Amino acid sequence: MRLFEAILDANRRAVAGDLSAGLHIADYAQELPVVALTCIDPRLNRLFPGVLALPEEQFIWLRNAGNILTGPISSTMRSLALACVVKGGREIAVIGHTDCKIRHVTISQLTERFRELGIERQHLPENLTDYFGVFASERQNVIRGVDFIRQSPLIGPRIPVHGLVVDIQSGQLEWVVNGYDVLARPSAAPGDMRLPTLGGEVGDLAAGAGFNFGEMKFPESKIGETAGAATPSISVPKIGAAPSPPPAPTPKPPPLPPPPGRARVVPIPPPIQLRPGDRGRRG
Ligand SMILES: [Zn+2]
Repeated sequence: MRLFEAILDANRRAVAGDLSAGLHIADYAQELPVVALTCIDPRLNRLFPGVLALPEEQFIWLRNAGNILTGPISSTMRSLALACVVKGGREIAVIGHTDCKIRHVTISQLTERFRELGIERQHLPENLTDYFGVFASERQNVIRGVDFIRQSPLIGPRIPVHGLVVDIQSGQLEWVVNGYDVLARPSAAPGDMRLPTLGGEVGDLAAGAGFNFGEMKFPESKIGETAGAATPSISVPKIGAAPSPPPAPTPKPPPLPPPPGRARVVPIPPPIQLRPGDRGRRG
């Protein structure tokens, strides 16, 4: 049984009341950790990673409003790719949820709520549906996201990409896209990779760009990394002023080793106590 087959099996048993349902993590060392993209809905906080029967350290959690992917090289795709390349993620899951508020919101409600925040319509992108990626079906949104990941040049063909929908009430998972099945199918020739057909601006932009990844230029230094950046101060050059010479680099001291025999513990603040009466006033 492969990882997500075991996860779905454990989830089905747990939802049915089997208190012993779970996963033998040691059996899946080659398929962990899992990289998951979910919605920002706070109701999901209590569900993950428990409904997947995964321990926290094997669960790399990415979130955005509506678990939406807008293209094969979007900013969320960048995070998914780095989660695999830097954090060692072995399988990806896009997990939508029932009763997603992003699905229920209409464009006129969106415009109205922005106006309530003092943001007028003319300051918003022209095509709000495309820009915010609002969708009409949780399942279709998940399928579209999986398609984008599958076709992204940033995600190799070896990573299974699954699509699931979780019931926000019960935690029950529905396996909408089986990433193992997709990988098992005969693959298209590399030159035959096509972008998913999408209506509207997103698809047009992606298709119109011709999408030749090889032609893209990337800066060779990391973001935030500049020559002589050892000083913490930031100086903004005045327009028209002659550029000042970069400050001499200060040698960086090596990081201190952790104290012997003790793991470094990040302190967390003490829980905030509710005073009598506060609870009622919160409404
Ligand atoms: Zn949601």
